[in-house]
Amino acid sequence: MNDWGEKDRQYIWHPFTQMKEWGETDPTIIVEGKGVFLKDIQGKRYIDGTSSIWVNLHGHQNKKIDQAIIAQMGKFSHATLLGLSHQPAIQLAEKLVQKSPKGLKKVFYSDNGSTAVEVALKMAFGFFRHKGSRAPRESPLKRKFISFTNAYHGDTIGSVSLGGIDLFHQFYRPLLFETIKAPAPYCYRCPLGLAYPECQMACVDEVEKIMEAHHHEVAGLVIEPVVQAAAGMITAPDGYLKKIRALCTRYNILLIADEVAVGFGRTGRLFACEHDRVAPDLMAIAKGITGGYLPLAATLATEEIYDAFLGDYSEFKTFFHGHSYTGNPLGCAAGIANLEIFEREETLKKIKPKIGFLKKELRRIAKWNHVGDIRQAGMMIGIELVENKEEKTPYPLALRIGQKVCEEAKKNGVLLRPLGNVIVLMPPLSISLRHLKELVSVVGKAIQTVTQ
Ligand code: PMP
Repeated sequence: MNDWGEKDRQYIWHPFTQMKEWGETDPTIIVEGKGVFLKDIQGKRYIDGTSSIWVNLHGHQNKKIDQAIIAQMGKFSHATLLGLSHQPAIQLAEKLVQKSPKGLKKVFYSDNGSTAVEVALKMAFGFFRHKGSRAPRESPLKRKFISFTNAYHGDTIGSVSLGGIDLFHQFYRPLLFETIKAPAPYCYRCPLGLAYPECQMACVDEVEKIMEAHHHEVAGLVIEPVVQAAAGMITAPDGYLKKIRALCTRYNILLIADEVAVGFGRTGRLFACEHDRVAPDLMAIAKGITGGYLPLAATLATEEIYDAFLGDYSEFKTFFHGHSYTGNPLGCAAGIANLEIFEREETLKKIKPKIGFLKKELRRIAKWNHVGDIRQAGMMIGIELVENKEEKTPYPLALRIGQKVCEEAKKNGVLLRPLGNVIVLMPPLSISLRHLKELVSVVGKAIQTVTQ
């Protein structure tokens, strides 16, 4: 057991980790990252198969991002946006507005995905409060939120309140505010017992029923567009988001898109909302915003929402919210470099063959005995393993099949983190075709070793 491992155990409480077990093996201590690889303290090299928890886009030690941060550090590393401004925040906000779905005009910075969602909730609530009612039957206290079964929007109390993953969220229920849960489209295990496309997206009707009954008290509907990521990469059918957008408009409910996981190219478009040509009223972004370098996040709002907070100071319509590191200039410099890479290196064009390759490879893996369902949206992939394919019987969670597959892959040089029985592949967008092949091959063998 090395010294660093001992010190880790002495001082660190790791996230989403049973610390009783953490001590049983030596922790993997990362000392270097280069491109899609991470190297541990023993010198072993791994493909970063989940982009360091879904953040890294253009590889580690990316020259352009490194240089942008260093250049900014040569000027200053932090100044507040409370009462001041700075060029990196202004420049990044301009770029984000230019590249975001139509109508999103204002950028409110924060520092992680959960917070970006919290900000959206407070803005939606504040919007109706300040504006009063837009429809005669509606109370100005539209203060509830609709969210989805299996949803995950972060770990702060507001975002956990929106959550729908019992394993993570149920325990905290006594602390949470009430939200209205709509059934999410999970076609492999349809909550309505129907099959796509014959169902004609009947699950949308369920959302409409909820809206019909509650629109007078609902401020916003929060959705992970196209992929419910932490739920196990559950993909929504094409056109689903568009239908939800239409319902939100009809019932005067703000559409809040949580693009924290799906944003910045992961699904093949810069933002997942683009697949359905949908413009949300509020959009939360984080993770990939800095190319996976620094904790930065933003909530984008429409002019209409922004305007509702305008008034004489004495009206106290100010948006009273802001964090110490809001709009950190190093993060913003990384964010600008990130978007410049998308432009100059045509990242979205370059990932097309990789998406195609994955599609082909996954078709082969889908035939295997214990592979129940494979879901792909661009470079986001979930492979759901099942005990019995015909019956779609899940492996009991206590068997930790997902974890075992990831341990096996790790032995062979691929770092992954499962979501229960779902194996997640989400490598940096910059991964070469050669390394993508290696990744798929290692993961495939790991699945076969563990499930056979
Ligand atoms: N929303 C979604 C959809 C996410 O996947 C996550 C994190 N995985 C969050 C919000 C929370 O982001 P953060 O971990 O940066 O707080």
